[in-house]
Amino acid sequence: MLDVAIVGGGPAGLTAGLYASRGGLKEVVLFEKGMPGGAITQSSEVENYPGYCEPVSGMELMECWPKQAERFGMRHEMKEVRRVRRECDGSFILELADGSQRRAKAVIVATGSTPKRAGFEGEEEFLGRGISTCATCDGFFYKDQEVAVLGGGDTALEEALYLARIASKVYLIHRRDRFRAAPSTVERVKKNPKIELILNATVKKAYGDERGLQGIIIEQNGKLIDLKVPGLFVFVGSQVNNEVLKQEDGTFLCEVNERGEVVVDLKMRTSIPGLYACGDVRADAAKQVVCAAGDGAAAAVDLIGYIEKIGELKPC
Ligand code: FAD
Ligand code: NAP
Repeated sequence: MLDVAIVGGGPAGLTAGLYASRGGLKEVVLFEKGMPGGAITQSSEVENYPGYCEPVSGMELMECWPKQAERFGMRHEMKEVRRVRRECDGSFILELADGSQRRAKAVIVATGSTPKRAGFEGEEEFLGRGISTCATCDGFFYKDQEVAVLGGGDTALEEALYLARIASKVYLIHRRDRFRAAPSTVERVKKNPKIELILNATVKKAYGDERGLQGIIIEQNGKLIDLKVPGLFVFVGSQVNNEVLKQEDGTFLCEVNERGEVVVDLKMRTSIPGLYACGDVRADAAKQVVCAAGDGAAAAVDLIGYIEKIGELKPC
């Protein structure tokens, strides 16, 4: 039986693996279905991870994380986990996509979240090259330049306000004339002289060249507008990757909120003993690499005490 199974090899999962193995747990296995390093590997420049004086690419930032954890004994398996379920003795069964199963005393779910795509032409092509889903991460690249924001929810409006402090102008594009965001946020946006609303409008196409985005074509009331902006921030919602917690009957293994985010306490404990969630998959996540890494460490530190406390599990 594994001491701990970690699902997801982004900053949260890899840090949890480092702390769990370095903290003395012997059987620590991390399962990753895609790119080791997680979502940040899509970013061409990261300049807000502490300790780096110069910007680095997401790939460069994450390169050593798996090796560092493996040095202390964490094992890394490139496998997808389909489902985590709980046995009557308190252990967990991980059902893998290849049909095999693993049993673990404790599980850390660190599967991240996925920003939704708006679906216009060129969105994938320019993602990370002018199109972004993270203002905290990429806003500074557009200092004193004009940018556009797409969306009408709390995230889009709050991020438009954030970007207005950095950019020279922010065009806020929304497909209706009513916002989903909180009324107080809408008021602040409307009062901000640097934000121009483009309502009842949709982005049709993003265009540019090998250097990146040069502009977007918007359709508003049947007319096409060519907005020459080097940056477009898309905030049309996101979904947490919580599928592994879905049970056969459609319920979740532990408590999740109305958005499907896993509810945790300050030690990243879920409502089920021995089951932890950290990083972007959890409720109230700041959705930053440094925060995900901190969550992973917090989960592992608590989990070491949990494993000690439960000792050997007796079959039921
Ligand atoms: P993730 O990094 O999303 O990792 C989750 C991992 O779990 C993934 O690798 C995924 O493949 C794996 N996984 C999911 N489901 C399964 C499964 N069923 N089985 C096995 N594996 C699974 N943050 C910053 O701090 N600074 C930045 O500059 C910055 N820029 C960004 C730029 C972009 C384009 C994006 C998309 C995000 C950016 N972020 C930035 C946010 C940052 O990437 C995330 O907050 C961070 O990666 C979250 O870490 P995580 O470990 O929780 O999840
Ligand atoms: P959201 O509330 O789902 O809003 C998504 C927005 O994107 C909506 O305005 C939607 O338009 C628009 N949209 C969706 N698909 C689109 C498409 N294909 N093309 C163009 N526009 C599209 O998402 P969110 O803003 O990320 O917020 C998620 C949740 O977190 C919400 O419950 C929100 O209240 C909460 N949140 C709260 C805070 C806070 O309390 N401070 C901050 C951030 C987020 P329509 O309006 O027309 O559907």
